[in-house]
Amino acid sequence: MLPTILRCLSVALLIFSSLQLQVIAQASTANRTTETEEAAITDPDQECSPYGYPPVGNQLGSFPPIWEAASILQNDSAAQAKWNSISGSIPSNISVKTEPPASDYPSSDPDCWWTYSLCTTPKLSGLPLDVTAAPEPSTLGYGFDDGPNCSHNAFYDFLQSQNQKATFYFIGSNVADWPLEAQRALAEGHEICAHTWSHPYMTTFSSEAAFAELWYCMQMIKLAVGVTPTCWRPPYGDVDDRIRSIAHALGLQTIMWEYDSEDADVNGNSITDQTVENNYNNFIQTANNGTFNSTGAIILSHELNNFTMSEAVKFYPQLKTSFQHLVPVGVSLNKTQPYVETNYSLPTFAQYVSGIVTTNGTRVSNSTSSGSSTPTSSNPGTSSTASSAASSSNAADRAVDIGVVRILLGMLFLIASWYMF
Ligand SMILES: [Zn+2]
Repeated sequence: MLPTILRCLSVALLIFSSLQLQVIAQASTANRTTETEEAAITDPDQECSPYGYPPVGNQLGSFPPIWEAASILQNDSAAQAKWNSISGSIPSNISVKTEPPASDYPSSDPDCWWTYSLCTTPKLSGLPLDVTAAPEPSTLGYGFDDGPNCSHNAFYDFLQSQNQKATFYFIGSNVADWPLEAQRALAEGHEICAHTWSHPYMTTFSSEAAFAELWYCMQMIKLAVGVTPTCWRPPYGDVDDRIRSIAHALGLQTIMWEYDSEDADVNGNSITDQTVENNYNNFIQTANNGTFNSTGAIILSHELNNFTMSEAVKFYPQLKTSFQHLVPVGVSLNKTQPYVETNYSLPTFAQYVSGIVTTNGTRVSNSTSSGSSTPTSSNPGTSSTASSAASSSNAADRAVDIGVVRILLGMLFLIASWYMF
């Protein structure tokens, strides 16, 4: 009796485990593992379904929780060393701000606080001016904040069809969620700048926390895409000389704007879809009036959702007509070396307008389809899709391990019950 039960149990265990492994195998073949595979998806729902990408997923424990305010992680000696090396140069007499600005902040705006006065000419010596416009005549520094957005393929396809390059200001948490989408930007010759880890009002953060927001955004872009940005845009434009000095110490050029489409601010009340259309139209009218004939412009627009991307596509032809040149901001600055890594370069402005829109850009190649990830999941619980994608991929790995152990045990029991009874 006992041997029969044991044999039946062993066979059941074997069948169950094999079936389970089969299901897992099917699920993993549906995973997206390369930038080109991901870029080929046209269904937005499929684009936005989470996937596991082990090179990033396995490292999430070395980053702050996705979409949570960053701070230097314990045991992160590299971040700590960098902070120690620059903290002495960060002014300690510039106060941490409140949002909205407190009523007792001096009207003279001693800290060149953009949120207070739109100041972009630092008052602290040694800081470069913020970039607020494309310096070249009749030129639009073309770019988009808040990406990568998971459903951006149609928008990027459109840009590709126009042979149009832009500057993308990526949020570190979004890069962690959508690393293959981030890779597509570089692969297609766009410029990538940092837009912080979790998109806070930076002036409300302590200097060390503000450093961490920039540091981990840069590190995540480096991890996912392979390059380290040398430009950044403050979320909400919220920057003062204290934050500028931290960015400057990290080698980041501060890129602002003078015109705002308000495409990310639609609230159905004071700002509607029509407001955004009016803003685009006014901006185009301003260009047509010759306002940018000697110095170009930068307008704030977003890769945030279907509406912001659709508006960008909709107004693209008019922008092309009203400006002589639409170029990434770095190109307008003749910044041919946009990243810390020197194996990638942007064309000069002259090259770009002559038709050479990329010089040394290549699609990121990666061969990560093998399920060789190690379960290092120490990402704290967050509701974010990326960490759930990462943890689901790690969970899949664990399930495979358990399945294999079950099959081995099942076989062992079967053999044992055969010989023992
Ligand atoms: Zn933003």
